[in-house]
Amino acid sequence: MEVERELRHAATDGELRLYYQPQIDTASGEMIGAEALIRWQHPKHGLLSPDTFIPLAEESGLINTISDWVLENACRQLKIWRDNGSEMKMAVNLSSKDIQLEDFRQKISNLIDKYEISPQSLELEITESTLMENPEALESDLNALRKMGLTLAIDDFGSGFSSLNYLKRLPVDVLKIDRMFIRDIDRDENDKAIVSGVVALAKSMGLSTVAEGVETPQQLSFLKSAGCAQCQGNLFSYPLDEDALIGFLIRQYERPLIS
Ligand code: C2E
Ligand code: CA
Ligand code: CA
Repeated sequence: MEVERELRHAATDGELRLYYQPQIDTASGEMIGAEALIRWQHPKHGLLSPDTFIPLAEESGLINTISDWVLENACRQLKIWRDNGSEMKMAVNLSSKDIQLEDFRQKISNLIDKYEISPQSLELEITESTLMENPEALESDLNALRKMGLTLAIDDFGSGFSSLNYLKRLPVDVLKIDRMFIRDIDRDENDKAIVSGVVALAKSMGLSTVAEGVETPQQLSFLKSAGCAQCQGNLFSYPLDEDALIGFLIRQYERPLIS
């Protein structure tokens, strides 16, 4: 209850932070966007990772307030990029509880107007497990968001119980291949087969793929040969705060990530 009380104030007291992890075009090595990842700068306990408070936020209903804060700041950052001539995209993590809110679409539409961003540059990530908990209920919400021009991604793909029937029906654009399949890709023939298979399935359904948790050049080279469109992971960069991200972009301009 104590943590819940503190978390309730965190958003209004300016204790939430947004970090950005670069997403890289596998073929060119260029940064083409970032995933926004939340942190809580706790006055006593320091910088807290989302795993320590997002589950509580989801249980207590605070998640909607937190997601509003994340969306506002992610869109503000997108506008800064655009003002600097960059067409990069921003991926944001959402809970199914956000998408089902009655005024969610209106909120998004207001942000798009306020920050003059193109809807395609905003990518909404929903985990496979929450999506498949109740796909019927989410289908119409997702369709409406897609109609607005937003990009929709299934996060942690392969870790939950995806129904191929829903994969066919739901209006998604991107599959984010779960980190656990990437981790042992150099050693494990089954992981290789799964990742190649997911990339091929996605491609034939007209979807794009992002590999998460890419840590080694060997993993990158396999993903390149498998045709995975984008990569994200500590090999390229840890999640960075706004200032560090500027440094990353400058360095990347001077020295491309993949030569
Ligand atoms: P996720 O969406 O799967 O995000 C990727 C997580 O993997 C991030 O952890 C990131 O720092 C970490 N990661 C990235 N590259 C590597 C790598 O090469 N190796 C390893 N070992 N890890 C890597 P993070 O930032 O601690 O976030 C954890 C989870 O918290 C996220 O998993 C997401 O589910 C949730 N989350 C983060 N931000 C938000 C948010 O704004 N809203 C909501 N609802 N959930 C969020
Ligand atoms: Ca994510
Ligand atoms: Ca993920």
